[in-house]
Amino acid sequence: MNCKLNTPPPNFIRNIIIEDIKSGKHGGKVITRFPPEPNGYLHIGHAKSIVLNFGLALEFNGRCHLRFDDTNPTKEEEEYVLAIQEDVAWLGYDWGEHLYYASDYFEKLYDYAIELIKMGKAYVCDLSAEQIRQYRGTLKEPGKESPYRNRSVEENLDLFRRMRQGEFPDGARVLRAKIDMASGNLNMRDPVIYRIMHASHHRTGDKWCIYPMYDFTHCLSDSIEGITHSICTLEFEDHRPLYDWFLDQLKVKCHPQQIEFARLNLSYTVLSKRKLIQLVEGGFVSGWDDPRMPTISGIRRRGYSPASIRNFCERIGVAKRDSVVDIALLEHCVREDLNKTSPRVMAVLRPLKVVIENYPEGKSEELEAINNPEDPSAGTRMLPFSREIYIEQDDFREDPPKKFFRLAPGREVRLRYAYFITCHKVVKDEKTGEIIELRCTYDPETKGGAAPDGRRVRGTLHWVSVPHAVKAEVRLYDRLFSVPDPDRGKEGADFKTFINPNSLQVIHGCMVEPGLRNARPGERYQFERIGYFCVDIVDSGPGHLVFNRTVPLRDTWAKIERMHRKEK
Ligand code: ATP
Ligand code: MG
Repeated sequence: MNCKLNTPPPNFIRNIIIEDIKSGKHGGKVITRFPPEPNGYLHIGHAKSIVLNFGLALEFNGRCHLRFDDTNPTKEEEEYVLAIQEDVAWLGYDWGEHLYYASDYFEKLYDYAIELIKMGKAYVCDLSAEQIRQYRGTLKEPGKESPYRNRSVEENLDLFRRMRQGEFPDGARVLRAKIDMASGNLNMRDPVIYRIMHASHHRTGDKWCIYPMYDFTHCLSDSIEGITHSICTLEFEDHRPLYDWFLDQLKVKCHPQQIEFARLNLSYTVLSKRKLIQLVEGGFVSGWDDPRMPTISGIRRRGYSPASIRNFCERIGVAKRDSVVDIALLEHCVREDLNKTSPRVMAVLRPLKVVIENYPEGKSEELEAINNPEDPSAGTRMLPFSREIYIEQDDFREDPPKKFFRLAPGREVRLRYAYFITCHKVVKDEKTGEIIELRCTYDPETKGGAAPDGRRVRGTLHWVSVPHAVKAEVRLYDRLFSVPDPDRGKEGADFKTFINPNSLQVIHGCMVEPGLRNARPGERYQFERIGYFCVDIVDSGPGHLVFNRTVPLRDTWAKIERMHRKEK
């Protein structure tokens, strides 16, 4: 596996595993699995499960399987199978040769079902889906037994074989486990284990027209693969007795232990493939990999690094209680990593031209700039400087308010890595009154950004030389939802009504330093004073540079932490 291990934080699952290794349970082995259903792209919630499962396997010298839980042919596609593999690998994990599909076990699962029937533990039921629901009862009332519950083993075997042979239409019959219609656990009231579905499967084609249900498939797939610890989210807690029941009845050799943990919920975000697919299909975003999506492919395109996602997953920890994580923490982890790793560059998003009147026409020179103050090994680069430069429109005010320390008429500021300049004249468009150019002078003695006489300036601006500048498109992203809890909704409102109408702002005509001309898709940079940006992996190409803003520089999480510290 190619991902570096941090010191793992303690959590209750890790503790269970440590105890199991001590006691020699499962022969001291640790075999976990990540079992996505290929019915959509993975999201950051899945990352939590991936980091946990692969992380534990790495830590305890075990292994983690990647298993596609592909039992519902109507919703599953090959596109998702490929995307999921790409995403898990991108996160830094390697399943080696242990790539599996539940559909590989269809024949074995069928045999297990036959075994259950032969033991009198499963029966073919002709009730409709609606009737099955009615017969199931409620938490307060026991269920009612199906009139088909006491069919003979022979009749059940015959009907189940004919189900497989395609003799009956969809929904005509199901196979059910025969457990207990009075159980306090609804999952134990004769759950359906096979249904008829005349649908082509992305791997098995038309070989099957009956498909096993999740609860039956999952525990047996785990057992077939020799999984030791089957880690899943809390909503499966009530399914655990069923998980164990199947394995106990069938007397399998390997009986994995199911352990549940709380799923990740993130503020301002929806984390459910069923909802994310609505955003894609409804055209609210440009696709599964839209940089505003919480999908792994979306955050990758946005510029988040795999290391920052792993770090985030480790920091939020693993608990037994549901909670909502502040998205500011995720952004903080991203910033923390990018701060260490991204080269600094100068980019002007909304250019304002400055002419330095006392700088010789036609001259240009190269000035040394530091690539990353956090990483001396990143070295320096040379930046061209000339008589005409661009600065940020926001960095000039004709009539500066208090505490505005940037450029204004008569004021001197520093150009980063270059000189001090003073503004003498503002040139405006005659018709619109818009500021189109500034006329300044520079002090040749201040080369490198310091004055020999020790005089100080309060503002330092980033800039790009006009004749050397490279044009770029910049996409600024904001949160996709404008409320912290779009998922829970206000008075049952549809989550899509909370989409932030300003979540994407495209700026054309940005000017970036010349070294970025050959920036490659996926490269990440810090635009000095602005934020972290990543070259778009889809739309950027030679002659058309596109940058996605990954995160702005301002760190709201760091502020929250400081406040907490003060309160203490
Ligand atoms: P969704 O609700 O988004 O459709 P799912 O649970 O149906 O997710 P699966 O493909 O079945 O998606 O998930 C694969 C694994 O990822 C499961 O073990 C599941 O428990 C885990 N998982 C899914 N969502 C989260 C989450 N938000 N936090 C942690 N683990 C998750
Ligand atoms: Mg699921």
